[in-house]
Amino acid sequence: MTLAIHGGPRGIPDRLRLYKSIGDDEVAAAYAVLESGSLSRFVGSPGEGFWGGPQVRAFEEEWADRFEVRSAIAVNSWTSGLECAVAALQLDPGDEVITSPWTMSGTVAAIVHAGAVPVFADVDHQYFSLNPIAVEAVITPRTRAILAVDIFGQAADSAALKAICHRHGLHLLHDAAQSPGVRSELGWTGCSGDIGGFSLNYHKHIHTGEGGMLVTDSSDFALKLAMLRNHGENLVAHFGRPDLSTLVGHNFRLGEIEAAIGRVQLRRMNELVESRIIVAEGLRKMLKELPGVSIAPVRPGCQHAYYVLGLTLDHSLWPIRDAIVSALAAEGFDAVLAGYQNLHQLPIFSTGQYRQAYPWIIRDNLAEDLYHPRNFPIADELHRHSFIGIETCAFELEEADVLRVGHAFEKVWEHLDDLSPVSF
Ligand SMILES: *Cc1c(COP(=O)(O)O)cnc(C)c1O
Repeated sequence: MTLAIHGGPRGIPDRLRLYKSIGDDEVAAAYAVLESGSLSRFVGSPGEGFWGGPQVRAFEEEWADRFEVRSAIAVNSWTSGLECAVAALQLDPGDEVITSPWTMSGTVAAIVHAGAVPVFADVDHQYFSLNPIAVEAVITPRTRAILAVDIFGQAADSAALKAICHRHGLHLLHDAAQSPGVRSELGWTGCSGDIGGFSLNYHKHIHTGEGGMLVTDSSDFALKLAMLRNHGENLVAHFGRPDLSTLVGHNFRLGEIEAAIGRVQLRRMNELVESRIIVAEGLRKMLKELPGVSIAPVRPGCQHAYYVLGLTLDHSLWPIRDAIVSALAAEGFDAVLAGYQNLHQLPIFSTGQYRQAYPWIIRDNLAEDLYHPRNFPIADELHRHSFIGIETCAFELEEADVLRVGHAFEKVWEHLDDLSPVSF
């Protein structure tokens, strides 16, 4: 059969259905809040309203129970949550936070917004997440924290990163946006650092449209996070915390409708995450015999939430990754990523223009010293040549779809010699 990209019939004729996690119970919960007329109860001043309405507070309590943490603080997005998490560390301008170049840009934007300098460390080739050895190599006297990321739903190497934090007196923050409800060797992933959290954006495993949840075992961080969420500068005197007089809050509050939907989604989290694991395991079986392809293993002692199933192509065998991905898309499978973001290459870092602005002005040569691709050989190689990601959370792949996708891969693999290199 001729490849679709060369005019043959498509291997997957019908469009794949998008993943949908919202059901009747979510609709009923949202409707009940609407009927109550009370869509938010937040007030940015002392009093009960500082902590939000009944749905927000119940959602937080249920989340903290479910994840076995002391406190959960709901926010209007996980980007907001990340900003609160970094701000809660009360860094000085020019302090450094180490994170992965392979994450969503919101992770690193939070560091920039705090006036700190993001320092990237290379990822490892199997799990695509921070390599602890590379992390330790970029620690300086200005390093204050490590921001771990469970990229693609694979748990970060929390145990190793936590040990590094202990050795060097650093904070550990954890971006578990893509891995809700899965365990690492330290317990629920996202919950073993100083502050962690989850995204409730509509393309994540469970969602409220937009939203996020912070978690911490520290009552001090919990208070700071609540203040950062909700005009905290108004409450410094009320809480008797002159040490927080430099804290400036935001309005990052979650609405009551979203919280009510989130409570239902939280109850269904096991089933929803499990549905992604089933899809990914089906694909694993279909793709395991493809020559020149390695499927990312699951980190030992951990579970994988499969936001994305990562593959690596043997580039020396098949130096045509982008042509393969185009051929798969033409077959009807466009849930495939050719490479991923290398955040050190975002213009704000790579052009050096940021040096004209605070806080960058205080450091010379950041682009050359910190953000040059030569510092990240693994991330760079994966991004340019060998990484293929299958978006296992974005599509509702039934068993028959998984078979079709597997056959589409086989078809493309039978014709690899007909594909010529392309570059985007
Ligand atoms: C989705 C995501 C974010 C941002 O979360 P929002 O809720 O969309 O703001 C941050 N980090 C990672 C790794 C993500 O996947």
